[in-house]
Amino acid sequence: MNNYNPYDNVIATIKNAANLLKLDESEYIATMYPERELKISFPVRMDDGSVQIFEGYRVQHSSSRGPCKGGIRFHPDVDLNEVKALAAWMTFKCAVVGIPYGGAKGAVKVDPSKLSETELCRLTRRYTAGILPIIGPEQDIPAPDVNTNGQVMGWIMDTYSMMKGHAVPGVVTGKPIEIGGSLGRVEATGRGVMITVRETLKRYDGPIEGTTMAVQGMGNVGSVAAKLLHELGAKIVAVSDVSGGLYYAEGLNIPAIIKYLSIKGNLLKDYNEDGVEHITNAQVLTSDVHVLIPAAMENQITEQNADNIKAKFIVEAANGPTTVAADTILEKKGIQVVPDILANAGGVIVSYFEWVQNIQSLCWDEKKVNETLNQILCKAINEVFTARDEYQASLRTSAYALALNRLVTAKRIRSIFP
Ligand code: NAD
Repeated sequence: MNNYNPYDNVIATIKNAANLLKLDESEYIATMYPERELKISFPVRMDDGSVQIFEGYRVQHSSSRGPCKGGIRFHPDVDLNEVKALAAWMTFKCAVVGIPYGGAKGAVKVDPSKLSETELCRLTRRYTAGILPIIGPEQDIPAPDVNTNGQVMGWIMDTYSMMKGHAVPGVVTGKPIEIGGSLGRVEATGRGVMITVRETLKRYDGPIEGTTMAVQGMGNVGSVAAKLLHELGAKIVAVSDVSGGLYYAEGLNIPAIIKYLSIKGNLLKDYNEDGVEHITNAQVLTSDVHVLIPAAMENQITEQNADNIKAKFIVEAANGPTTVAADTILEKKGIQVVPDILANAGGVIVSYFEWVQNIQSLCWDEKKVNETLNQILCKAINEVFTARDEYQASLRTSAYALALNRLVTAKRIRSIFP
């Protein structure tokens, strides 16, 4: 991570959207500040008997449109500004796809690969105890993000439930099915990315078959998006993970790569297949493809490399992969950037279904989950493209304008307390 402050991105995008909507500053000023920022330090007993102190955060950006919602990230480089930015993006994401949530995000500054399973469990439980006063199914509902998964959500649900004295499945989403998770949740963000690529290409060039693509970050989101796009006939020529990238002009064998990555500890730098070249992460981003899908971390496309991007479309699977300065360069080059708040909203949409099922003690089948996801996301994509035509602005500014309009309308109706 460089010195760039991702919260500056948030402020710049809100201001652009507010200008487009001709809003008075008094109408949107509150959207530039998180409602609540919690920073905690907590001890964890390590397996060797020593005690280590960790730092954690939970930021609630907005509850104007409903309870706060957002993932929890475990990463050694995370800081409060990153969590603030991620929380704000959640507010705009929920608003742009029209689900009744505000935005939040949480994190622990830790490299979880250095912890044993029992240490990770103790860290998760103690972090949950630290943020417990401000989370809950009606207040703020966490979910998985980078380096957290269904097991971590299970520990959070259990810790919260033990403190309350009864099972509260609706406190987190992205849980395993056995404890109230939703079918289709694990694949939801990647499925949403696939839907966004499909619907975007439909508006420009038509079919996906044979279209060249590159995916940066073959994690939960990137690998599902790659798998589903590969199944639709896309030619994925470049992929990467934190260890480096792979390239094959004829199209990589995505199912084989995903199978290889499913074995714990396997990294792409050690992957071997005839004809497959090893390239750097930087080369993945600038590879000669039609569609580039950044699905790793923030600030990957910057003013340093934006000029070298060859893709015609960038579909942001990761949160905040493009800096404001890079956006300007990409716009000048005529590259269409489908913003994160739309492209990766599949995860929070199905999280919403999970929460709805938990509250109603219902279980939807996977077909209903996937069809309803498709319906909500296609409607949102359509609204963003319509807003783009109306405002004659970039897809990002148009998406933010649509979301900001919904947010300030909710604020206006509720008015300022007291
Ligand atoms: P993950 O931890 O499963 O995967 C991250 C992937 O990125 C891994 O393959 C990792 O090796 C790779 N990576 C990390 N740093 C990299 C780098 N510098 N260059 C290239 N690859 C790198 O995380 P995820 O859940 O797939 O999340 C990925 C992105 O999607 C994040 O920005 C996250 O906020 C966003 N997102 C996730 C969800 C979700 O449901 N998981 C929902 C919305 C948005």
